[in-house]
Amino acid sequence: MTGGMSGLSDMDDLYEAIILDHYRSPRNTAPVEEPDIDLDVNNPFCGDEFHIQLKVDDDAVSQVGITGRGCAISQASASLLAELVKGKSTDDVHTAVDLIRRLLKGEELTDEEADVLGDIEALAGVRKFPVRIKCALLSWIGLDDALKEFSSTK
Ligand code: ZN
Repeated sequence: MTGGMSGLSDMDDLYEAIILDHYRSPRNTAPVEEPDIDLDVNNPFCGDEFHIQLKVDDDAVSQVGITGRGCAISQASASLLAELVKGKSTDDVHTAVDLIRRLLKGEELTDEEADVLGDIEALAGVRKFPVRIKCALLSWIGLDDALKEFSSTK
């Protein structure tokens, strides 16, 4: 099979490979000692459940640990999140969460915005399956809300 006139089917294969890689080998799953943020998120419609821990130093995420279970999309998404946020400022995390929300709503991102997301753009494949969008966004929205609350109490 070749990519056809748009090359989209090749793109889908690449997306699928990234999702499967993160699903099979999730990143940053070790527990965080004395976390500043410690929350559980779940999506009862699918049975996705994750435990997210963060350590925040000087307005940046110094450590992250995410464990849990669920469908391939939710697990890959949580792993991509764990990989992205480590070392990022809280502002950069909020920016990335806004971008992924827009991506999954079907908005086109600029090249610069796509660069911020990197491999996370693989989740764009989920747009074709609306019921999976909740799975993809679960850990992102939970972490974003918790981080905003944490910043506002300091
Ligand atoms: Zn799910």
